Amino acid sequence: MDYEAFLAMKLDGLHAEGRYRVFAELERKAGSFPTAARYDGHGSADPTGQVTVWCSNDYLGMGQNAKVIAAMHQALDAFGAGAGGTRNISGTNHSHVLLERELADLHGKEAALLFTSGYVSNWTTLSTLGASIPDCVIISDAGNHASMIEGIRHSKAEKRIFRHNDWADLDRILSEYGPERPKIVAFESVYSMDGDITPLRQIVEVCEKNGAMTYLDEVHAVGMYGPRGGGIAEREGLMDRIDIIEGTLGKAFGVVGGYITGSAKLVDFIRSFASGFIFTTALPPHVAVGALASIRHLKWSNAERLAQRERVAKVRARLNSIGIPLIPNDSHIVPVMVGDAAKCKWISDLLLDRHGIYVQPINYPTVPKKTERLRITPTPLHSDADIDRLVGALSELWSQCALARAVA
Ligand SMILES: *Cc1c(COP(=O)(O)O)cnc(C)c1O
Repeated sequence: MDYEAFLAMKLDGLHAEGRYRVFAELERKAGSFPTAARYDGHGSADPTGQVTVWCSNDYLGMGQNAKVIAAMHQALDAFGAGAGGTRNISGTNHSHVLLERELADLHGKEAALLFTSGYVSNWTTLSTLGASIPDCVIISDAGNHASMIEGIRHSKAEKRIFRHNDWADLDRILSEYGPERPKIVAFESVYSMDGDITPLRQIVEVCEKNGAMTYLDEVHAVGMYGPRGGGIAEREGLMDRIDIIEGTLGKAFGVVGGYITGSAKLVDFIRSFASGFIFTTALPPHVAVGALASIRHLKWSNAERLAQRERVAKVRARLNSIGIPLIPNDSHIVPVMVGDAAKCKWISDLLLDRHGIYVQPINYPTVPKKTERLRITPTPLHSDADIDRLVGALSELWSQCALARAVA
């Protein structure tokens, strides 16, 4: 086989469909986020300009929080660069244990377990449970993230899909299985592309009625919802009725890593049986320390959450006032609907090149075709002037593209 020719053919296919991914090469500037230097994408020495980042998942700017950075500096000097091994073989550091205790407390659970990312935590936990529990069926929301989908697939358990956020459909599927059949329902609290929030109470009640275990991905909610940043389940007072709550340390908490929380037995089981936990080097201790500082800060401080809400409301109101079509939702995510892959990419390119505004286009397969969009994530650190520039630039490009405006 001509391997190189095969790879080139597949890549050409992506180009032809207009969904070849191009990364913006950035240098985030601690102290002036959401500003970043932009480079040419090939590692040339000098930046090509400055951009305002409008699509970061560092939702609250915690990646440059002074307490977080100071804690990480101290830990790096005190403990060195890496963890020194897998958790089993010399890699369990004191800071990992402290962080797991903090996470368990955040979600009101007996225990927590760290992973190297949120992706790995979803993949590993669902694949291990699905493969271990005899005759298990996993029922998955149609909008679930790739990390859950892949984990479920790898488990080889029977898989069913319920209509997005539709608890009646979930109930119908669950009721096809007898009470003795093991069932896991996997879903998210905030869906990151539409920014919609799951009807958590109804889903939990349907699961309880049918004796299903619940697995909730709170990746886009931790740090931002609930009085202590425990997520939508905390806000709704439902944490104790969900079996497994999964989250990330890489989005609102501003660092990197993933985790699950649950009963002591559940966590001990995953710790003991999950390949994706056991056979990989633990997170560097200073990363754990940084995440710990971030979580503790957001447990007590509401300032970032309130400021984010105010910025989100302002961006929405301004875009609504000029008829830019948005998906309405109750979250911090502002999806601007373009509905055309080429135009979406074109607007994004011009925002970047002409206006110094970075919003990555979201195209198929991340979202369905004809729903291509710009996903805007306002942070507490975007200024009024930043918003003015964003709204002005979008208005201009919208007209140039002859895209329809919503009737106000
Ligand atoms: C980003 C994301 C993950 C993965 O988390 P990482 O820490 O970035 O690996 C999991 N679930 C959802 C819904 C996500 O958007």
